[in-house]
This record gives sequence, C-alpha cells and structure tokens, in this order.
Amino acid sequence: MSQPALKQIEAASASESKQQLVDCIRMLERSDIIDYNGHASIRLDGDRLLINVGSCQRSSLTVDDICTIDFEGNVVEGQGRPPLEFHLHVGIYRARADVRAVVHAHPKWSTFLTMVGESYKPVYAQGSLVYPMPVLDSPNSINNPAMAKRLADTLADRPAAMMKSHGAVTVGKDIVEAFVLANYLEENAYRQYMAMQIGKPYSFSAEEVSLCREKLWNPGLFKRTWDHFRAKLG
Ligand SMILES: [Zn+2]
Repeated sequence: MSQPALKQIEAASASESKQQLVDCIRMLERSDIIDYNGHASIRLDGDRLLINVGSCQRSSLTVDDICTIDFEGNVVEGQGRPPLEFHLHVGIYRARADVRAVVHAHPKWSTFLTMVGESYKPVYAQGSLVYPMPVLDSPNSINNPAMAKRLADTLADRPAAMMKSHGAVTVGKDIVEAFVLANYLEENAYRQYMAMQIGKPYSFSAEEVSLCREKLWNPGLFKRTWDHFRAKLG
C-alpha cells in the first residue's frame, strides 16, 4: 500500500478512536461514574495515547477535547493539557502490553467501600467479572511515576483495581471492555452497599464466579452493554 493511503487509514482509525473515547466518557458521566473529573485513554502505537484534556467538561465532551500525548505527557497533537493523573495511564501501559484502554474515575459507591475498608464482594453476576478486586492502599493522586508504579503493581494482571478513598480503575483490550467493566464494578458496589443496609449480602461462591466469567466475559455481551448506554446519548 502507498504511504499516503496508509496515512489516510491511520487518520480514519484515529478519528474513530477519538469518537469512541468521547462516547465512553460521556456515557460514564451520564451513569454518574465520572463527574467533572475522571479520564479515559486509548493506547496508540509507538508509546502514544489518546486522552481527554484535563480541564474539559465531561458532560459536553467533543473530539476537540481529546489530545494525543506520549509516555512523558508531552502533547503530540490537539489542544490543552492532559490530566495530572496521566501517569496512571502510562504506568499501566508500560506494565501491561495487553492493555489498550484505561478508565479512571472517582465513583461514589465503590469508593464508599474502600473508605471503610469493606472488601468488594461479587454480589451480582456481571460484578463478579472484576472479582477478586485489588485495592491500592493510598488515597494519593496518581500524579507521578512512583504512584503509577504502585498502582500498576497493585493491579498486576487484573482487569480492575480500587484505590482507597479515591476511586477505581479498569482496563481492557479495547475501550468497550474498559467502559463495560467500570460499569459492572460500580453497579456491583452499589448493590453491595444497598444490600448491606438491610442485611449481609450473599457473595457468589468461587464456582459461581467462574460460571459467570465463562458466560459473561463475551465481546458480544460487552458490545450490547456499550450499545445500551450509547443509545441514551442520543
Ligand atoms: Zn483520581
């Protein structure tokens, strides 16, 4: 293929990825998982990533609010600066070659659990996909390489981690997966929290967790969850 043709394909796929990232962040905002903070990224080739600009309005995000940065945080393309916690994304991409997308937010329900040291339990089927859940034992912002390494070490090879009195992170082989897992995580935490108000919630057995994983870890179901929320954006 000729160089200009290849460049055109690259540009088209970058613009598609930008739109997906915008949709992801707006869906997270609509679901009350992201507020005026929070960020998501998509890994590009050559140690670069797409990420929302730190100062952007998540509720009315457009592709102009997405910038491309390198692993040092330098803006390669786009307007504005990345969030101070861009280190979180870079730290995970450095540690995990399998990860192509990262979502980080400060959602309420899962954070309530870490605030009181209550561990995340698999209380509904989809929520069991991110169980067991590692927890970073620090509320500090992931705004430097040392904290990013601590978080990546805590996450290890898992799809999600919570950060004590701070928030949660999910990763995926694409942005659909990272989005859907953030949704499942927070919904599970909500159900766990609410059930704890009236009793001791039932926690799925190891066998039930593995059955859920077998049935529910499925790109078709992930896409359906994504489409459900995507349709609400109009
Ligand atoms: Zn944060």
